[in-house]
Order: sequence, then C-alpha cells, then structure tokens
Amino acid sequence: MEKTFLKNIRGFFSAVGECLTLSWRTSRLYTVFRLLCNLIAPLLTLATAVLGKYILDLLSGSAHPDNSRIYLLVCVGGLLAVNITRSLLQKAQLYMQTMHNDLINGELAFYMMDKAGHADIEYFDNAAYYDKLSACTRDAPVIAHLLWNALFAISAVFSLTISFCALSQLNIIYGVFMICAAVPSSIVAAKYTRAIFSLSLEQINGERQKGYLQNLLLDRSFAQDLRLFGVCGPIKEKYRRLWDRMFCKRRAVNRKRSILTGVLECLPELVLVGTGLDIALHVLDGAATVGDYSLYTGLLSQLWNSVYTLSDAAMQIYDNQLKIKNIQSLDTYENHIKDSGQKSLDAVETIAFDHVSFAYPGTGKQVLQDVSFQVGKHERVALVGLNGSGKSTLIKLLLRLYDVNKGAVRINGTDIREYRLQDLRRSFSVYFQDDPSYRFNLRENITIADMEREDGDTAVIRAIRDSGAGEILDRAPAGLDTFLTRLFDNQGMELSGGQYQKLALARTFYRRHSALILDEPSSNLDPRAEHNLFLCLDRFSQGKTVLFTSHRLTNVSLANRVVVLENGRILEDGTQEELLAHGGRYAELFRYQQERFQVGGEKT
Ligand code: ADP
Repeated sequence: MEKTFLKNIRGFFSAVGECLTLSWRTSRLYTVFRLLCNLIAPLLTLATAVLGKYILDLLSGSAHPDNSRIYLLVCVGGLLAVNITRSLLQKAQLYMQTMHNDLINGELAFYMMDKAGHADIEYFDNAAYYDKLSACTRDAPVIAHLLWNALFAISAVFSLTISFCALSQLNIIYGVFMICAAVPSSIVAAKYTRAIFSLSLEQINGERQKGYLQNLLLDRSFAQDLRLFGVCGPIKEKYRRLWDRMFCKRRAVNRKRSILTGVLECLPELVLVGTGLDIALHVLDGAATVGDYSLYTGLLSQLWNSVYTLSDAAMQIYDNQLKIKNIQSLDTYENHIKDSGQKSLDAVETIAFDHVSFAYPGTGKQVLQDVSFQVGKHERVALVGLNGSGKSTLIKLLLRLYDVNKGAVRINGTDIREYRLQDLRRSFSVYFQDDPSYRFNLRENITIADMEREDGDTAVIRAIRDSGAGEILDRAPAGLDTFLTRLFDNQGMELSGGQYQKLALARTFYRRHSALILDEPSSNLDPRAEHNLFLCLDRFSQGKTVLFTSHRLTNVSLANRVVVLENGRILEDGTQEELLAHGGRYAELFRYQQERFQVGGEKT
C-alpha cells in the first residue's frame, strides 16, 4: 500500500518533470514567461484583496489616515494598476499558450510519425500495437494540456501558501480546516479519473472498430459496393450498437464520479460559511474590522480555490501521467529486425535460400518449411504455386521485412543479416501485388521509389512510358503535376486498378537497382498491357538477377528456371521444359490454364 502510494507520488512528479522538460525543449521563452505569469497571478489576487480591505476600512471609518482622500486615490489607483496588469498578462498568456500548444503538438506528431515509420512490419499485424498507436495518437494533444496543468499546479501551490500564511495571521485553524475539507473530494475524484482513463484504454479497440465503420461510409473506395449491397443501414446499426455499449459504460462511471464528488465538495463550502460566520462575529465584537472580514473571507475563498485548482490540476496530471507513460511505452516495442550488419552491398549477383523455415510472429503456422533454392547471377527465376503457398513470404524474407526462423537467406554467398539493412533494401527494385496508390501528384507517385535520384522529369517520364502508363500521362491535365484522385484537388485524375498497377510498375522501373523482384506484376492488366509489359520486362531485366511470382503460366516463359512451391515446401525446380516433361504439379497447372484458353480464353 505504502509502496504503491510512493510509486504514484514518484510517477506524478516524474510526469510534471517530463512535461516541463518537453516544454523547455519546444520553447524556452514561452516556458519562462508562462511560469512567471502563473507566479504573478496569485500575487495580483492578494494585492486586490489587501487594497479592497484598505478601501473598506476607510469607508467604514475603521481607519483614519491624515489625508484620507489621497489615501483613497492611491488605493483605487493601485487597484486600477493591478487590474490592467492582470488583463495584459492574461492576453499575452493566451497568445503564448496557443503558440506553445501548437509547437508541442507538432513535436509530438513528429515523434509518433517517427515511431510508426520505423516500427517493424510485424507490428502492423499486431492488434495490440495498433490499439496503442491509436491511443497515443488520440492522447498526444492532451500532453500540451498537461503542461498547462503543471503550470496551474505550480501557481496553485504558490497561491495556497500565500493565502494560508495570510490567514494564519488571524487563525491558523481556518486554513487547516479548509485544506482538510478539500482532501476527501480530491481523493475520490482522482480515483475516478483513473477509472475513466482505464475504461478509455479498454474501449480503444471498440473506438477503432467504430472509426472503421464510419470510414466505410465516408471512404470513396467502398461507396460503389455499399450502394450496390444496400448495407448503409446495417453498417449504421452496427455502429450504433457499439456506440451504445461504450456510451453506457462511460455514463455509469461518470455518473458515479459526479454524484460522489458533488456530495463531498459540500464540505469545503461548509467550512467557508462557518469560518466566514466566525470572522463576522469578531467584527461584531469589535475585534476585527469590516475590511478584515472582506480580506479574510476573500483569502478563504482563494485558499479553497487554490486547493480545488491544485487537486484538479493534480488529478489531470495523474490522468495524463498515464497517457505520458502510454506514449513512452511505445518505446517498449523493440524492433526485432536488427540493423547490426556492417557489410556493404553494391550489387546483387546471386540469391540463395538455404534451408529456410518461417512462421509469422504470433502465429504457430509454419508458412515455409526447409526451403532451399538458388537464383544464379543474371538468372530469372519464376516462383509458381497456388495462393497461400508462400511465394510473397519468400520475397519479404529476402528484403528482411521479417527474419527467418531457421536457415539463412544469402546474397552473393553472405547471410543478408551481415549487410547493412539500408544497403540490402536499396539493392532491389520491388513490385508488390498489393502496392498502394499514393494520393500525391503523378511525379511524386514515381519519385517516391527513389528519392535520391536527381535526373529530373526525363527519368520519371521514361519509367511511366516503360510501364505502359504513357496514356495516363498523355491524359493528365497538368502533366506530372496532376494529382491522383480528387481527394485534395478537383482536377485530380481517377485511375482504374490496372492503371494504378502500371504506375506501381513505373515506380519499380524508376528505382535504380541491381536485382528485380516482381510479385504478380500483371494481375490487373488487360491482355495487351500484359503482353507489352512482359516485352518491356524482358528488355529491362537483361543482365540482372530477377525473381518473380506469377500465377499466369504463359508469362513464365520469361524465366530461365521455375521453382514450384506448395504449402511452404519446394515441390519442383527446373526449366519450364524439364517441368513440363516431368509431368508433375507444374505440368498439371499448365494444363489447366491451357484448357481454359482453349475453351473460352484465359480467365484467371
Ligand atoms: P502466396 O504469395 O503464395 O499467395 P503468401 O506468402 O502471401 O502466399 O502467404 C503464405 C501464407 O502465409 C498464407 O497462409 C497466409 O495466410 C500467411 N500469411 C501471409 N501474410 C501473413 C501475415 N502478415 N501474418 C500471418 N500470416 C500471414
């Protein structure tokens, strides 16, 4: 119990420290200024109360200075100066707070992007990681708010000390009573703050599901299907059920918190009335002046207000401290793909899979089992097999998007883990069948594949024409500056799946490389585009090591050798002629496609 308490206190102060460090890092000027403002504010409140007391004493006749008019003028002038200073400080503080929040949010956004951008690809298959990432993205703006609370807390401590000391001049018990009365409601509120935060973490998965459902109706790519299926209503209903469930839980916790803290907050109110009454009795007895009554009841209110502000700010920090910890916990997701290799790789000549076995992280299923084959220098090898046989997985292992569980992948005879990761990935030009389309302009859609190239638009245009996407460029209203899709620009171009595939190929061609990897390069192309593509690939891949997958066996003629995979094992390996003559699985697949051609054209 004591340990937990100490841990919480430590966590609290470490959150305040984290906050101030972040603030200091983003802007020293704003930090110092805001800190000063928060220290000056309680002094101004005290000055107002003291000046008010003098004015009241003067008016009620309790004070008799020699020159009461000048005395009054000085007090009123003082009040005016205090009010103007307070107002100016408030304006300046508001400006600095807005700018400072912007800077902090920017800093946190960069941090999150950096984390997500460098995380191992396996984390993108991990729902827990996604939940954490969503929680952190959602909570990042709260950190700026936390800073505000930390400054508030500092100001409240200062204000509490001043009002407590000033009250002690009259009777120390008043201050002690007030502080004791405020503690129970603070403790209960802190407990519920924590419960609400835990609930929000628990509900992150539901929030993500809700976001997905909402996005289904907002995202253009689903618009056609959803209208055709007429499922807008059921999707909304599904959303409503999720929303209802989550809302009910949140309402229950919030309701309890409001009732309990509402009742407990009556205690300080009682103390305020009781002590006010006691001071009033002193005034009636002549032991205090009317000005004293005004000053000390004002100080009591200030004390109550600072206890409340302090507990509120402390609760917010307590709540946000967990959010800070949550953001920091992203660091606990360590990358498993270590970039510890020292060797440089200039050109890929040979590739060898050497007794490779692999299961995706978090799954027990062996996707590849003892796979061994080689791609010789400037050889073109086709990987063939039914869907799910492990072809794409082999490519991912070659690029070290995942590391093998057993065996090794070698390039030029060396285990790829011994090369620098950047060198390894830079050596390949890769086309993935599920390549995304970027909502950038046409030029950026190509240059993103090789940002280090500096040979300008000529190389971009050549890559586009080589990939068969020339007609897209010819139609583009603003040439290479034309945006893809109308998401950001009304003049943007909408493309078909096959056209996006051609652009993805243009990216592959644009990238300088020594080895070429193509994963189902023609799955969305029309027959003419496919034919042209393979002629182009033939030319493009001369003198290069090439590994490609294709389930259209007519395209396999491009390869010098064919490797047939089935259920993660190598079934056959040889030239196309050898495999056809052998009469095994490859010959069987070939026969299926041949028959479909004869019946009514290829349909795969
Ligand atoms: P192919 O390219 O031959 O169609 P893949 O290599 O894509 O096959 O997939 C091989 C097997 O690995 C399939 O059973 C698939 O379900 C599984 N798989 C693919 N990607 C993942 C992943 N990220 N996590 C878990 N299993 C995966």
